[in-house]
Amino acid sequence: MTEISANKRVNDFLANEGKLFINNEWRSALSGKTFTTPNPATGRVLATVADAQAEDVDAAVAAARAAYEGEWSSLTPSQRSRILWRIADLIEDHAETLAELESLDNGKPKPQAQFVDVAVAADVFRYMAGWCTKLEGNTLTLSTPYAPGATFHAYTMREALGVVGLIIPWNFPLMMCAWKMAPALACGNTAVLKPAEQTPLSALYLAELLDQAGLPAGVANILTGHGETAGAPLAAHDGVDKIGFTGSTEVGKLIVDAARGNLKKVSLELGGKAPNVIFADADIPAAIEGAANAIFFNQGQVCCAGSRLYVQDRVYEQVIDGVSRIAGAIKVGDGRAPETVMGPLVSAEQLERVSGYVAGGLADGAIAAAGGAGIGGEGFFYSPTVLTNTRPEMAVVREEIFGPVVVADRFGDVADIVEVANDSIYGLSAGIWTSDISKAHRVAKALQAGTVWINCFNVLDASLPFGGYKQSGWGREFGHEVLQSYTQTKSVVAMI
Ligand code: NDP
Repeated sequence: MTEISANKRVNDFLANEGKLFINNEWRSALSGKTFTTPNPATGRVLATVADAQAEDVDAAVAAARAAYEGEWSSLTPSQRSRILWRIADLIEDHAETLAELESLDNGKPKPQAQFVDVAVAADVFRYMAGWCTKLEGNTLTLSTPYAPGATFHAYTMREALGVVGLIIPWNFPLMMCAWKMAPALACGNTAVLKPAEQTPLSALYLAELLDQAGLPAGVANILTGHGETAGAPLAAHDGVDKIGFTGSTEVGKLIVDAARGNLKKVSLELGGKAPNVIFADADIPAAIEGAANAIFFNQGQVCCAGSRLYVQDRVYEQVIDGVSRIAGAIKVGDGRAPETVMGPLVSAEQLERVSGYVAGGLADGAIAAAGGAGIGGEGFFYSPTVLTNTRPEMAVVREEIFGPVVVADRFGDVADIVEVANDSIYGLSAGIWTSDISKAHRVAKALQAGTVWINCFNVLDASLPFGGYKQSGWGREFGHEVLQSYTQTKSVVAMI
C-alpha cells in the first residue's frame, strides 16, 4: 500500500488489519466483519478494522470477568500502580506515533494531538496510578440505640465494581480511553472499551502498549465496532457491572435504558452548550483571544466548548470584531501540515450536521460575522464561524452543534445574563471574563455548570472534578470524585 506517513511505525500499523484485543490476543470478529476508517482530511480510507458484534462482546466480557476473578484481584495496589505508571511511560515513549495516528484518524492538528491529547492521556494514567494505593475506608463508632450495652467495631471498605464497559466518542479518542480506563483499572476493575467507529486507531495502538506494560490478560479489552451492534450489547450486558459513557445526550439516555436489565451503575459525560460571558470591565484583548480559543480549539468538537458568547453592550462590537478577525485568520487544513491551526471535522456526517445547523440559523435571520459555510474540495473542512443577530429560541442557540460555530449575543446587566446563561438543558461548563473578582465569584456561584472558568477556558486537570449539571451528565471524571464512580462501599460491623 502507499506510504501514508514518514513514520514507519504508523505505516506498519496502518498496513495491518486492526483486530479486536481480547484477553491480550488479537482476534478477528467472530463474524469476520470489518469496516474502514477514513482520513477526514482527504476522505480516503486509512485502515480496516474488525467490526465487533454481540458475540465478540460476550467473549470480551468473559475475558474481563475471568481476569477480575483471577490475577488482577490478586495483585497488590502497588503492583497495579506500577503497571499504570508503565502505561503512562509507554504512551510518552510513543507520543510521536500516537499523535500522528490521532491526527490522521480524527483530523486534528498533529502538534495538538501530541501536546494535548497524548500528553494528557499519559498524565491521567500517572495521576490515577497514585490512587491505587490510597483507596481507603473509615472506622466508625456506632450508637445503636436499640442495642444498649453492646459495642461494635465498624469500618468501611472501598471495593471495585467488577467488569466495566467503557464507551467513548471520537473528539479526543486516545484521551477518552485514558479518562475512562485509568480510573477504572486504578480502582481494581477490569474493562471492555469500545472506541467510536470514526476513530478506532489510537485505542488499538494503546492496546499494544497495555500488553507491553505487563497488564495481565483480560484486564483491558478493546472492541472496535459500531454503536448499535457493539455499544448497545455492551451497555445491556448482564455480565457488565457499570458503564462509563461519554458522548451525546441522546445516546446517554439509551445507555440508561439499556442498563435497566441488571441495574448496572452508569456514569455519563454528555453534551454541552456552554455560555461564555464577557463583561465590559474584562481585559478585552485577552477575552477576545480566550473566546476564540474556547470555540475553535479541536474544530469546536469539544463538549465543554464556549459555544454561546454573551458580551456586555459597551464592548460588544469590539469583541465580535476581534473574534471574527481571529476566525477569519485561522489556517484550516490537513492536520499534519505544519501551518495548520484547524483541521477538518471528523466525518462527512459531522460536516453535514454542522452545515445544516448554520444554514438553518442563517435562514432564521442570523448573520455570519465570519465563516458560515463549508470549505469544499476533498475532506470535511468547515470555516470557523461567528453568528450574530441570534435569538434565544433558535436551534443554533439551544442545541449542541459540535463544530467551529459560536453564536453571539449582547447583554445589559448581571441579573439578565445569569438567567440567559442558565436557560439551557445543558450544564457542563461556563466562562466568565471580568476584572471584578467579587462579581466573578458571584456569577460563578449563580451559573448552573459543573465547571466555571474565570478569565480562562477549557482548563482541565486530572485532579479537578469534571462533569455536568442538568442533562450534561451523571457523575464526575477526575480527582478523587471519579473513584466513587468505579468503586462501591462495603460496611462491616463486628460485635466485640
Ligand atoms: P454518540 O453519542 O452517538 O457516540 C458516542 C459513542 O457511543 C460512540 O462510541 C458510539 O458508537 C456509541 N454509541 C452510539 N449509539 C450507541 C448505542 N445505542 N448504545 C451504545 N453505544 C452507542 O455521538 P456521535 O458520534 O453520533 O455524535 C453525534 C453528536 O453527539 C455530536 O455531533 C455531538 O453533538 C455529540 N457528541 C458529544 C460528545 C461529548 O463529548 N459530549 C462527544 C461526541 C459527540 P459509534 O460512534 O461507533 O457508532
